[in-house]
Amino acid sequence: MSVIVADLGETFDVPDEAAMRALGASLVRRWKAGDVILLEGPLGAGKTTLTRGVLSGLGHPEPVRSPTFNLVQLFTTEPPLMHADLYRVKGWQGIGLEDYLETHLCLIEWADRAAGLVPVGTAWRVAIDFAGEGRRVAVTSPDVR
Ligand code: ADP
Ligand code: MG
Repeated sequence: MSVIVADLGETFDVPDEAAMRALGASLVRRWKAGDVILLEGPLGAGKTTLTRGVLSGLGHPEPVRSPTFNLVQLFTTEPPLMHADLYRVKGWQGIGLEDYLETHLCLIEWADRAAGLVPVGTAWRVAIDFAGEGRRVAVTSPDVR
């Protein structure tokens, strides 16, 4: 997996699913309770796969289901993790996401629907694009915005 460090963050070329999980397990070492991670990218990009890697990086043993039918899933990891999938909703309001923002590491799929949940520039951004057989992942930390 190659890493390009640019002014606004890092870009990872991620060739397959195993590498995507490994990237999630690696990135989580930078994150803590209260961090919001906005996962951007089209259907099938690998947002849930990366989240599974994050959970395995936190030592979570169970396979993690896609939360498409569960808007929010909570995990009693350390830090505790909230995984939200906004695919089937128009916005974040009314789901109760804000209850977890301070206590949990919060990963949100379909981040474009999370506009206004946290102030602009305070969340991490993980943008996934298709790149040949694999994916290109751009990670931007709040600090460098
Ligand atoms: P999303 O949650 O963004 O809709 P998923 O995480 O469910 O996407 O992944 C969709 C498919 O893409 C899965 O079959 C998964 O194995 C595959 N996938 C994930 N990451 C990669 C990658 N880096 N390269 C190739 N395939 C990947
Ligand atoms: Mg998904």
